[in-house]
Amino acid sequence: MNRSGLKTTGLICLLLCSLYASAQKAARIHNKAILIDGHNDVTSASVVRGRDITEPQPDRHTDLPRWKKGGLDVQFFSIFTGPVAQNPKGVYADAMDQIDSLEALVHRHPQQLMLAKSYQEIQRGIKQKKLVALIGVEGGHMIENNLNKLDSLQKRGMRYLTLTWNNSNAWATSALDETLHADTLQHKGLTAFGKSVVQRLNQLGVLVDLSHTGEQTFYDAIAASTKPVILSHSSVYNLCPVFRNVKDDQIRAVAKNGGVICINFYSGFISRKFDQKLASLSEPVKKQFIDSVSRQTGDSQQALAQWDRYFKKEMEAARPTLSDLADHIDYIVKLVGDDYVGIGSDYDGIGSVPIGLEDVSTYPRITAELLKRGYSKKSIRKILGGNVLRVIRASF
Ligand SMILES: [Zn+2]
Repeated sequence: MNRSGLKTTGLICLLLCSLYASAQKAARIHNKAILIDGHNDVTSASVVRGRDITEPQPDRHTDLPRWKKGGLDVQFFSIFTGPVAQNPKGVYADAMDQIDSLEALVHRHPQQLMLAKSYQEIQRGIKQKKLVALIGVEGGHMIENNLNKLDSLQKRGMRYLTLTWNNSNAWATSALDETLHADTLQHKGLTAFGKSVVQRLNQLGVLVDLSHTGEQTFYDAIAASTKPVILSHSSVYNLCPVFRNVKDDQIRAVAKNGGVICINFYSGFISRKFDQKLASLSEPVKKQFIDSVSRQTGDSQQALAQWDRYFKKEMEAARPTLSDLADHIDYIVKLVGDDYVGIGSDYDGIGSVPIGLEDVSTYPRITAELLKRGYSKKSIRKILGGNVLRVIRASF
């Protein structure tokens, strides 16, 4: 080998060594950090349907083996039902059914899972290397306008209540309704009863979750709350202007309150390009496509299948990247500092995720990306879980 060949080989070795060293450093930081995810819909997607998530669930985002691979320590399990109840007794009964199924799962696997209700129990679970489950109830409609039901949910383990889902309720308006149906609203923001809900949550040590809420509800709730709030799964409006992402003033208000915003992974909340592509493939476009293919082939079923393939391919090509997601973290850090941002994947509740973040085994890539961007070990630890833990500690 001549001199320049030797030099090239040396440079390649140096590059590989440095890549290996930074991968090792990222893995060390990730493994030592406490990783908390603010929101996962595996309860409604799998657990309540009788799936054993301690076994692989390849058609879903979430199962215990992949959680372990991803280094997750603490998961807020979303208890979610829409405005129309599954149980004939109503949406409160739906919440109870889901908590029953989650408790049963934990009881069947006491060596691997633990349901925690206090900061101390979380710490104990982490020490015992169990996956610590916390309950987050997503949608204030589930208390059925009754503070006694709120108390009962707290006794069963509820540690945050998302004041609204996409649907408003009698005492709080949602982001969707405040944005798209403002004319039809009976009230906007929190009613007097809504403020008493926030006070009761504060008294009981349940976090007030402001993901999904309209801006008026957000500001009313943050004014009424004496404790730091959480946004369990929300991203940044300025990077992706969709109805339920949070604006700069909201981010500043969360920082002032000492709360935390956990970034949602949904492609449509991360990337403007993805949203634009989705909007361009709307129902009228679909109808036109199917009509045109049907006319040519005389087969409407085949036309529909062709549309499905086309839609999937186009949306797949529009997926954002891991770097786009890290931009949302960066944005909050640059605006208000590194104390107010966390992780709130929304896995198993979303139809599209960024490239590189395909399931719950992929969290270490976020650590590697932040390290690559020059984040310190201390900052990364805050973002992965330290900030959410601080908010938890202030409440329960
Ligand atoms: Zn949600």
